[in-house]
This record gives sequence, structure tokens and C-alpha cells, in this order.
Amino acid sequence: MNILIFGPNGSGKGTQGAIIAKKYNLPHIESGAIFRKNIGEGTELGKKAKEYIDRGDLVPDDITIPMILNRLKEDDCKNGWILDGFPRNKVQAETLAKALKDEGINLDYVIEIVLPREIAKLRITGRRLCVNDPNHPNHIAFDAIKPVEKDGKLVCRVCGGDLKTRPDDQDDAAIDKRHDIYYDDKTGTMAAVNYFKQLEGPKVISVDGRPSIQEVTDSIMKDLK
Ligand code: AMP
Repeated sequence: MNILIFGPNGSGKGTQGAIIAKKYNLPHIESGAIFRKNIGEGTELGKKAKEYIDRGDLVPDDITIPMILNRLKEDDCKNGWILDGFPRNKVQAETLAKALKDEGINLDYVIEIVLPREIAKLRITGRRLCVNDPNHPNHIAFDAIKPVEKDGKLVCRVCGGDLKTRPDDQDDAAIDKRHDIYYDDKTGTMAAVNYFKQLEGPKVISVDGRPSIQEVTDSIMKDLK
């Protein structure tokens, strides 16, 4: 099963992506997490990507596109994948569609989490990242994924690991820029969403991102077979 998942930063896309990946045993390929891992490890890719990410800009396509297309060729992707955070603009969408077609790979589902911009922004500053695993969702404002307290500090609710914030989540201008890109339906991410929604083949699952995590999961799962 091959899945694309879309949603603005703050929509719970990463959380839902992780839940789906676990349930269907798919690799959860998150472009942002790949960049953050490279930054953490100080790789050349990480060094190149960091300045763009800190500002909320997209990392240039000539870096991002090959990184993702190569990732999809790895062995663990043979039986399916869920791709999260890519494509982020129209060029990436068209390039991905062509690459899949050339490789004879079908896209089965396009999941879109719909959330008004104002709500997405409010949600971003409260999220916390587990240092051990980016797929351990924590958010100080949501009971279902609230970090737990240990020795007077907040730690990951899944594994007890330390938590950190993303620099681009605490910077107002970077948040706004990421949303400018997401909600742009001419060349930005909404253009990519609309591009995939009009393709024949994949089933489109559009869900309201405002309810609780569990309710959003249920809405997605009832259409995912
Ligand atoms: P995310 O974790 O999805 O919010 O991504 C964090 C940051 O990584 C984004 O704000 C971009 O700077 C960069 N990034 C992630 N995915 C892409 C992509 N498909 N194209 C370009 N830059 C990306």
C-alpha cells in the first residue's frame, strides 16, 4: 500500500502518519525528519538544509527530490510506504508522479488533513520532539499525547526520553512562511495536493483535522482498507 499524506504544519499529519505506518507496517518516510536527522548528525546534507529549515523555507528541489526518490528505492519500501512532507510544491508533485509512473508504482491513497490556518498556527508552538524517536508524538496542549513529568521535567510519554522543541516551531516568521507555502494553491503544497487529487487512480481521503487525534484516526481508517 502506497500512501501520500498531506496537512499543514500543526495539523497532526506526522502523528497520523506514524499511526498509519504502525498499523500497516509501512516505512514512515518523513522528509522533515530525514533533514533533522542529517542536521543532528552534522552531515553535508544537513549543513546544506539547515539554513532553509530554520527560516521556514523549502530546501531546494535539487537537494530534496533526489533524497526522497532514492529513499523510496530502499528495500523496506518494496511492500509499500507512507510519504509525509513530500511533495511540498507543484514541481515535486509532478516529478514524483512521473517517477512512480516510470517505475510502475501505483499510488493507492492520498490523505489530506484539512485545517484552517489560524488553528494550525496555534497548535505548532506546543509540540515537543522526543530525542529518541521522531515518531513519539508529544504536545503540551493535547491530553492524549501530553508529555509526562519525571524528576520535575517533562519527558516523552512513550519512552521517557528527553524532549526538545524544533527551532522553526518557536519562530513566528518561520511558522508563517511554512503556512504561506502550504496554503499556496498556485505553486505551493495545496497545488501539489490538488494535483494528486485530480489524478485517476489513488483514492482520496479528506478529513477534518479539528477533532481529537483518535477521531481523526478513525475518520482516516474507515476509508483505508
Ligand atoms: P516538516 O517536519 O515536514 O515540518 O519539515 C520541516 C522543514 O523541512 C520544512 O519547513 C522545510 O524547510 C524542510 N522540508 C521538509 N520537506 C520538504 C520538502 N518536501 N521540500 C522542501 N523542503 C522540505
